[in-house]
Amino acid sequence: MTNIVVLIKQVPDTWSERKLTDGDYTLDREAADAVLDEINERAVEEALLIKEAQGGEVKVLSAGPDRATDAIRKALSMGADSAVHLNDPSLHGSDAIQTGYALAAALGNVAFENDEPADLIIAGNEATDGRTGAVPAIIAEYLQIPALTQMRKLIVADGKVTGERETDEGIFGLEATLPAIVSVTEKINEPRFPSFKGIMAAKKKTVQTITLADIGVEDGIVGVDNAGTTVISSTPKPPKTAGERLTDEGDGGDKISAYLVGQKII
Ligand SMILES: Cc1cc2nc3c(=O)[nH]c(=O)nc-3n(C[C@H](O)[C@H](O)[C@H](O)COP(=O)(O)OP(=O)(O)OC[C@H]3O[C@@H](n4cnc5c(N)ncnc54)[C@H](O)[C@@H]3O)c2cc1C
Repeated sequence: MTNIVVLIKQVPDTWSERKLTDGDYTLDREAADAVLDEINERAVEEALLIKEAQGGEVKVLSAGPDRATDAIRKALSMGADSAVHLNDPSLHGSDAIQTGYALAAALGNVAFENDEPADLIIAGNEATDGRTGAVPAIIAEYLQIPALTQMRKLIVADGKVTGERETDEGIFGLEATLPAIVSVTEKINEPRFPSFKGIMAAKKKTVQTITLADIGVEDGIVGVDNAGTTVISSTPKPPKTAGERLTDEGDGGDKISAYLVGQKII
């Protein structure tokens, strides 16, 4: 029986336009459609696979504004048992360390039906908006538990989590004793689609909303005004152009190499 918490984040849909707020450069979350980050769907899927194989309970935890409930409901409709939503306006603009600190505090307050603490925390390796890829390791530091990051394969057995970590340098076999936190890559699995039954069941599942006061985090520690890192400027990427078409008249190879040289790619 494994008690699992999956960390899920609602992010702007990659297909909708993203923009930053004038002034403090925090993400303008109202300007874009919001979705459960795809990497977090995979994190939920992995938790469900572990539960289906060996029993246990799967809770999701998200720090986000009111509308993060949509992402939470999606995770519940996939099959997670219940959710904790850390929703506090003081979190606005928190950097990765503040987010990790608040999530670590919230994790200490997650209660399971068997009254035991979490064995395993599963996160995505990198959120598609902030993309610091830092939150899981920061949580590990605050909770003083092992972190296995960038995992493409996981096995939970005998009080340990083992698996494969994939980086540009190669594939590494890792092992840690539980409790531990892991972050997973897109190679970990293919997430299931919520079934109609799952969507209906999700409406009745418990979503516990908590504030910073509930978890003993003072307002002055988090938020954009207290962040250790500050975005001081922002330049949007130039819009995508139509590209350049080269016609192969027997000299296609020469044209491609001349193009690549011109672009300083080779
Ligand atoms: C354009 C932009 C630039 C930013 N630049 C920086 C920067 O340079 N430095 C900085 O410190 N912060 C930055 N931030 C803030 C950053 O987005 C937040 O701190 C964020 O909550 C955590 O960082 P991340 O999204 O990069 O998480 P990552 O570490 O990339 O996320 C990995 C995993 O952690 C979990 N997780 C992350 N956030 C949450 C959450 N809110 N609730 C539940 N689980 C979560 C998820 O499982 C996620 O898949 C930036 C934000 C934006 C929008």
